[in-house]
Amino acid sequence: MDAQTCLKKLQYVGVLNFATVGLDKSPQVRCISAVHYEPDALYFFTARGKEFCRELLHDGQVQILAYTRYKEMIRVSAKAVVVPEEEQKKYRELIFQEQPYLANVYPGSTREIGIIFCVRDMQIEYFHLGVHPIFRMQYTIGNGEKKPKGYTITGDCIGCGTCAGVCPQGCIEPGEPFRIMQEHCLHCGSCLEHCPVQAVRNIKEEV
Ligand code: SF4
Repeated sequence: MDAQTCLKKLQYVGVLNFATVGLDKSPQVRCISAVHYEPDALYFFTARGKEFCRELLHDGQVQILAYTRYKEMIRVSAKAVVVPEEEQKKYRELIFQEQPYLANVYPGSTREIGIIFCVRDMQIEYFHLGVHPIFRMQYTIGNGEKKPKGYTITGDCIGCGTCAGVCPQGCIEPGEPFRIMQEHCLHCGSCLEHCPVQAVRNIKEEV
């Protein structure tokens, strides 16, 4: 698995969920298939009058989510930017060619109400629940940053093995301290709840 394969999987899914934060701070999510895929970028179409467009122009923060039939979750966290004016027509026409239904939604020149955004610098989370043990990994494209999350076992570990016994994925290996195999961890928190000496920490609280 790699970042480019994740983007290809988004393309296979075809209809993606785009989440933003509304101007009133409420969560907003919508399904979008007007997307053009490149190996290192996503281009998407919306209309200038839509709340979605206003939210993107406001701060550009967006999460894009897809779930495959094989139980793979792919989540992109990124900042969307408006494509330069001189490239707007090129990407709009490309998206309309690739998604012919759009000509029904925006016939003729009415498509000119559209605006094309691009996502280039992205963090990608891949999470496969269809294998055992489950598999997760983070990737980046451009200037996207990996953001650590999940749990870790600190030097306070006394080696009792309680955490390994309650881990649903069997992804904690013995050692001094015991170690969580991060690529197989569900982030369920069972090890943290059961550790008798509070040696398990949430990574987000550590950084
Ligand atoms: Fe196992 Fe859950 Fe702890 Fe991950 S968070 S190591 S899956 S018990």
